[in-house]
Amino acid sequence: MHLPLLLAPVLVLPALAAPGASLPQAVVPAAGAASLREKTWNPPSSLRAALDATWAHSMKTYQPQPDPLRFPNYGFHQVFATNGSISFCVRWDGKGVADAKLRSQVNAALKVQSKKWMDILAGFDGWPFAEVKVQVVGWAVRDRALAPGWSKEEGTLYTDRDPGGIPQCAERCGRFFHQDGNYGKCAGGKEGHYDQSLWLTDGMNGGAGGDWGQRLGTEGFLSAMRKGGDIHIFLHEMGHTFGLADFYDWRPPGQTNFIMMAGSAMTITEFDAWMLRDWWRHLKPKILNAKVA
Ligand SMILES: [Zn+2]
Repeated sequence: MHLPLLLAPVLVLPALAAPGASLPQAVVPAAGAASLREKTWNPPSSLRAALDATWAHSMKTYQPQPDPLRFPNYGFHQVFATNGSISFCVRWDGKGVADAKLRSQVNAALKVQSKKWMDILAGFDGWPFAEVKVQVVGWAVRDRALAPGWSKEEGTLYTDRDPGGIPQCAERCGRFFHQDGNYGKCAGGKEGHYDQSLWLTDGMNGGAGGDWGQRLGTEGFLSAMRKGGDIHIFLHEMGHTFGLADFYDWRPPGQTNFIMMAGSAMTITEFDAWMLRDWWRHLKPKILNAKVA
């Protein structure tokens, strides 16, 4: 059974992100936040009301009801199923050429960006992975000519399409399609499977994220990648992969600037980090007690 977690696309409002725009609250980056040295649930008192309200709101609005924690394919489940890694397929939903240099840069960027989330869990409340290994194991393109110089070390180059005609890595190799962990029909077997898709679409504004991966505009991703630093739309969408909510129709008390509130912060904040930890501490009993495939 597939339970896609398709959350609302992000609309990043440039006005909110513009330099010099007045921000209602200082952004407190997760990187360097002293509270994140805590190894058990002990968020700063200033965040508690907002964390509790956010948790309650998610449990009220997520599927399946009455227990959204039964959803079986959050990023946490995926990392456990591989014993500490995330394999990406890049869906190249465009007409440009992705040469070997660009492909290598995307691979490197995914490692760096994913680590920003995963480091928040390292050592916290029984999370067993000091490091989560991240790699690209395949690309999907409209035409093999768009990925010149493909080498076997990069994994598999796919020309499969989804039902809408958009390139995607083979369903037989994808976690979203095989949540039982059976990749027997995947040419590369379990080793060659992918957990999430980074879906890059030419000309797309905003993005979307879920258990299947993250979707955003090619130009925005590549331009942020080349600048270095945070690829904030990717980070927001990956937050969804790990259960975090959107905040379009309500706001948690006292919190105005954090990456999951689209356009209000360009980096993962202390509040985002504690939201991620909240998900892990709640899912932990289910994941540790289940035999995750
Ligand atoms: Zn979102």
